[in-house]
Amino acid sequence: MTRLLKAPDIVTRSTLRLLIAFAAAFLMSLSLWLMPAASSVVPARVGAVSEVKEIGRTNSDRPILAFRVGDPTAPVKAVVMSAIHGDERGPIRIANNLIHGAPIRGVDLWVIPVVNPDGLKSRTRRNGRGVDLNRNFPTDWGRSYGQTYSGPRPASEPETRALMAFLDEVNPQYLVSFHQPLRGVGVADNKPPGFQRALARGLKLRLRSFNCTGVCHGTMTTWFNRNHAGVAITVEYGRRLSRRQATRTGPNGVLRALSAWR
Ligand SMILES: [Zn+2]
Repeated sequence: MTRLLKAPDIVTRSTLRLLIAFAAAFLMSLSLWLMPAASSVVPARVGAVSEVKEIGRTNSDRPILAFRVGDPTAPVKAVVMSAIHGDERGPIRIANNLIHGAPIRGVDLWVIPVVNPDGLKSRTRRNGRGVDLNRNFPTDWGRSYGQTYSGPRPASEPETRALMAFLDEVNPQYLVSFHQPLRGVGVADNKPPGFQRALARGLKLRLRSFNCTGVCHGTMTTWFNRNHAGVAITVEYGRRLSRRQATRTGPNGVLRALSAWR
């Protein structure tokens, strides 16, 4: 009788311990989201995170947060960002998986889940002042209106300036910017094709040329690629991400393309 009871007893106890550990990790990560507003740099050890940095604030005073995951001493530096367009929320799940999942090795990775928190709040492509941040960068900036309003002048928006300062400082070899819904991995002109090919393979998306209906004016990737040695790639998912894309193919594909692992 005792023998019959023992095995399930152990299972229950270890399951309970696991549940408590998960609950604690969840509460800590929740506090991470609520607390960083208080200071610019909040050291933290939650999931894969070793540092949280407020890289700037929006016009509505919302913080833009970058989470450092992976190995800070790794020679390869990379940045992954999502929601530069506030109505493209799907890939935030990939960013969150990278932040909250198991520790990451082989890369010094910064993740910015929400570049445009005001747009996310109002569920709009543009920021709180109606500017398309991905047309506001100073490289090949041009006047555009409507959904792709480029702002009154190059880098007029605090989000744009925050991102520029942060990317200049980190100077990553690889930069991935997630979008929806055009489905594909963008081709970066004038850069070695290795990373974009590895990303397409890892994410199971096709390589495509996204040319912004003509010339890309003031986009983040054009600005980065023109002014940095590293390579910036636009990744477009479809209208919806499957659970598999958000929790497996997405995060694991990015890590594989960076020769990193967890
Ligand atoms: Zn977009």
